Amino acid sequence: MGEFDLIARYFTRPTAQAVLGVGDDCALLQPAPGTQLAISSDMLVEGRHFFADVDPAALGHKALAVNLSDLAACGAKPLAFTLALSLPRIDEAWLAAFSKGLLALADAHGCELVGGDTTKGPLNICITVFGEVPVTGGKSQALLRSGAQAGDDIYVSGTLGDARLALEALRGTVTLPPGMLSQARQRLEQPTPRVALGQALRGIASAAIDVSDGLLGDLRHILSASKTGATLETAVATNLVASYARPDWAAAGVDAEKQLEFALAGGDDYELAFTAPASARDAVQAAARQSQTPVSRIGRIDAEPGLRLLDAGGALIERRYASFDHFA
Ligand code: ADP
Ligand code: MG
Repeated sequence: MGEFDLIARYFTRPTAQAVLGVGDDCALLQPAPGTQLAISSDMLVEGRHFFADVDPAALGHKALAVNLSDLAACGAKPLAFTLALSLPRIDEAWLAAFSKGLLALADAHGCELVGGDTTKGPLNICITVFGEVPVTGGKSQALLRSGAQAGDDIYVSGTLGDARLALEALRGTVTLPPGMLSQARQRLEQPTPRVALGQALRGIASAAIDVSDGLLGDLRHILSASKTGATLETAVATNLVASYARPDWAAAGVDAEKQLEFALAGGDDYELAFTAPASARDAVQAAARQSQTPVSRIGRIDAEPGLRLLDAGGALIERRYASFDHFA
């Protein structure tokens, strides 16, 4: 099998929304009138973002999920994506599973594969997604990092720390009972991008980001873009560790200090962190219900710069948490 047979067999599908998909020099997209294109790329590199022996179907899912998560954070509706793939060899069983996992998530979100590039080299997957955001009254409805204001509430969707728990288990630093390991691994390897929530928050959230490097680090991006500070109730954030895991934390050898670290700085959560004015509390809960995504209020935006962490008793936590940085 050569390059073009590979593309034809695993990555070429009829398109319904895109004007032109795989097969020509360019794909053609026609965003709906009155919308802007939202564009984002994410690359996954073997040994850095995933282990060589990871299930290829899960890898296909995750490669697209992390990109859809960026569209979600912008409040964009997924439209299409391109796939640049570097493969050490042609392994048809691997390709079949990878494309199945990838395209199943694509179908679930109506996001069409419209093109890409395929080369030989170390395993590396780079996806670029395209989404639509409405423009109303000349104003983009995209959710940005820069809109948070002093007094706004801070929220996070879903649960935190599960992916980190799975990573530590795979590294052998914690030991999990089998049921707990498989649930945590599901979160690490097949995250659920919060696409419906992101769109439901348009016109409600003042700022948003997806949590990929750890809650605190990503929240700091909102704070610096919005030129504000924040105070977080860490007890709420720690409680967001998935309910299956919480009672078993201690049994798994994860002490209170580690629990806090996994929840606040774990990484790979792919939840949304966002802010909204206190007057929008009902609207936020309505968006959560509409998108069937739980959201929790975890703190507030302050005029004073810096990020303050409060423990369950309201006392300041002094410890610093580093978030993930590839070059740190
Ligand atoms: P070019 O020579 O113009 O770079 P290629 O020969 O690389 O084009 O690709 C041929 C067609 O297949 C193009 O439409 C391209 O977008 C598409 N394509 C290449 N690799 C992939 C891939 N991994 N997934 C989807 N489409 C791909
Ligand atoms: Mg090419």
